[in-house]
Amino acid sequence: MRHIALLGATGSIGRSTLDLISRHPDRYRASILASGSRVDALVALCVTHRPDHAVIADEAAFGALKAALASAGLPTRAHAGDDALCGLVAGDGCDTVVGAIVGAAGLRSTLAAAGAGKRLLLANKESVVMAGDLLRQAVQASGSELLPVDSEHNALFQCLPHPAAAPASSVRRLILTASGGPFRGRPREALARVTPAEACQHPNWSMGRKISVDSATLMNKGLEVIEAGWLFDVEVDRIEVVVHPQSIVHSLVDYVDGSMLAQLGNPDMRTAIAYGLAWPDRIDAGVAALDLVAASSLQFEAPDNEAFPALGLAFDAARQGVAATTVLNAANEVAVSAFLQGQIGFLRIADVIEGTLQHDVGAAGGDLAERLELDARARRMAADLVRKWPTEREGAVR
Ligand code: NAD
Ligand code: MG
Repeated sequence: MRHIALLGATGSIGRSTLDLISRHPDRYRASILASGSRVDALVALCVTHRPDHAVIADEAAFGALKAALASAGLPTRAHAGDDALCGLVAGDGCDTVVGAIVGAAGLRSTLAAAGAGKRLLLANKESVVMAGDLLRQAVQASGSELLPVDSEHNALFQCLPHPAAAPASSVRRLILTASGGPFRGRPREALARVTPAEACQHPNWSMGRKISVDSATLMNKGLEVIEAGWLFDVEVDRIEVVVHPQSIVHSLVDYVDGSMLAQLGNPDMRTAIAYGLAWPDRIDAGVAALDLVAASSLQFEAPDNEAFPALGLAFDAARQGVAATTVLNAANEVAVSAFLQGQIGFLRIADVIEGTLQHDVGAAGGDLAERLELDARARRMAADLVRKWPTEREGAVR
């Protein structure tokens, strides 16, 4: 029986994970459930899954969580804040951690799980983008099993040799597929006035709002290029992105002998999560078999770097190193949040990131505290740029 700490339990990945746990009660139990701020949603999950611990990130919500768990008659203990979460993740109450918090908010708990030698199913790509170096050190020191949940990285993991014997010499390229998002095929001029609701209408995947906007700008793929570099120890110039609108081929490994291996499946995150839960075994994920005849045709095209400059910014940052990728991630989080709140237009997201990257916000440093300070400085810089832009008419939503 695996005892699972599910971080980001109320989100899209969280829901898919709980569905899998419910399908396999003989193999998995949710022992710790954690979420950001909505007590009612977290308590509803506790009623169904009866974990030992429930953690709410917002410390002001501790009393409300405690009271709601008690009035639901649950034995689940209430906790609040990131320190409490990190302590539980590293403790005896779980052997497996699903890292599905959105954004930099997931960094400390991701590192806590890796440092404590847990099996870590990692969806929180932002933590790899900010601190792939620290994550790798923690995994190597503790012997943690890191299993990528991001569907592309899960596909690559499945297509690479195990244990990753000699990928450096046998692999020519890693090819990440991108759906192209809801605005694929539109020219840059047509994107100035798109709304948050349109950006969140993903054609193939149902996801949280932040990653949906990232998919629309193609920054999601940029973050994933950086993520793949760290997870598979491959230089960024051997990573390529190809747009594949059907989202059936989840990514490919191109070997030096001319073989190309791909992982295919219906676009449903339960496949990747189930793989991480059961690895090296496989379990039923409740996902329908892929019908190749019904899928009929698979298209591939080059990304449009002019309409979607975020992808190029991410490649540039990856070449510069972890300080630049930390700044890229921080600026993206600030800009996406401003876009979702109607403060800036869609095209300004990439402008804010580019502007932030042009400022010298300092070095990455070699430890978590320094990395978080760099993240905070970059956020302040990006927020200044956001404040500059709403006054401009062109491209702003209001
Ligand atoms: P979501 O917005 O649906 O859910 C986010 C979860 O994080 C919620 O449970 C929320 O309560 C929690 N949260 C937010 N702030 C928090 C904080 N400060 N502390 C603790 N918890 C906090 O997002 P999602 O789509 O499930 O994505 C989660 C992560 O997985 C992201 O990093 C995303 O990039 C990655 N991912 C998602 C998908 C997908 O299909 N949804 C695919 C690949 C990767
Ligand atoms: Mg992905």
